[in-house]
Amino acid sequence: MNCSACEALIGSYRDGELTSREAALVKAHLASCAACRAVAARYDAVEATLVRLVDIEPRADFTIGVMAKIATLPAHARKPMRLWWIVAADVAVWLALGALTALGAIRWQSLVGGAGALGEKLLVGFGALYDLGQHYHVTSLLALGVGIEIAVIVLLVAVGRRFLPGMRAALAGVLS
Ligand SMILES: [Zn+2]
Repeated sequence: MNCSACEALIGSYRDGELTSREAALVKAHLASCAACRAVAARYDAVEATLVRLVDIEPRADFTIGVMAKIATLPAHARKPMRLWWIVAADVAVWLALGALTALGAIRWQSLVGGAGALGEKLLVGFGALYDLGQHYHVTSLLALGVGIEIAVIVLLVAVGRRFLPGMRAALAGVLS
């Protein structure tokens, strides 16, 4: 009998489940092979440990105690982080636009003129209301504002989708 055959049978040998012929072969191999005797010794150690574990029983109120402890833990807060982040970034973008305007870096007059020409083509159906607004450049400003807002939100959502999961995973790694 070789070692792999012996190792495969050691468990059954110890449990007395082998035929007398198989048991004799395993016994003869163990007598001549230190490696397989070491394997048998590990079985002994594991069994001794298991016998001791059986003696360890939880207190009668173990489950109740654990559940009570869980109940006292603070609830895992689900923060609306994505929405909060978008609103904050959106406000920041508008503040930046305002600052650039105040500094004269953005010439809204020329932009509004361009947007007005485009709006005229797109919003012909709005008729009198549009004409009234156009007179004061209100519609153009509104269209420009809404356009910028939509572009900013789309951009922020795209950026958020792309990077927030990674940022969260990194944060979770740091915090845990
Ligand atoms: Zn062996």
